[in-house]
Amino acid sequence: MRVLLVEDDADLSRQLKTALGDAGYAVDHAPGGEEAHYLGENEPYDVIVLDLGLPKIDGVSVLERWRREGKATPVLILTARGAWSDKVAGFDAGADDYLTKPFHTEELLARLRALLRRSAGHASATLSCGGLRLDPRAARASVNGEPLRLTSLEYRLLHYMMMHQGRVISRTELVEHLYDQDFDRDSNTIEVFIGRVRKKVGSDRIETVRGLGYRLTPLPGETEAA
Ligand code: CA
Repeated sequence: MRVLLVEDDADLSRQLKTALGDAGYAVDHAPGGEEAHYLGENEPYDVIVLDLGLPKIDGVSVLERWRREGKATPVLILTARGAWSDKVAGFDAGADDYLTKPFHTEELLARLRALLRRSAGHASATLSCGGLRLDPRAARASVNGEPLRLTSLEYRLLHYMMMHQGRVISRTELVEHLYDQDFDRDSNTIEVFIGRVRKKVGSDRIETVRGLGYRLTPLPGETEAA
């Protein structure tokens, strides 16, 4: 999952970038409204954390522009304490959730998990696909109760595929959602990661759809569950 963090406070940005990275996200950071608007318009983020108090172009204006352009990415806004009218303006501009500063990082991570799960149409906090289960709270996955040992990129790949299970996902889409903008992207490496994840989860769970991409499905006989 790839997140855009829009925050002008350098200390808070550093802290959140680390926490989001540790939680398994690919993170892009924009310190100002201009850059935020550009990135949000051009990169396919899964979720956006948007501070409203930004220099030059404020967060509400950035959000309004994205929504006017038809960007439907879930957005969590960060507001200053006591600024209730900011929350109203933020929601009216198209925000999906908010947090008031100061907040606990754990709460931000929990709210992002909820936003991601709702936007992908999942009701439960744990994702399952037949005997394959993934718990984004603990960043852990298992097959038939056996814990999987995944590297952070393998985990990201599996998480994204489980969020969008049953659908064919192209290599380009995977590259765009697994790596941040500074990463040296090469869609061929996706094949390598798919190969590794396949070995761990059972090769029949990830189908290659020639020329189109990959699809994660339960094994025949397993019940499909979101
Ligand atoms: Ca600020």
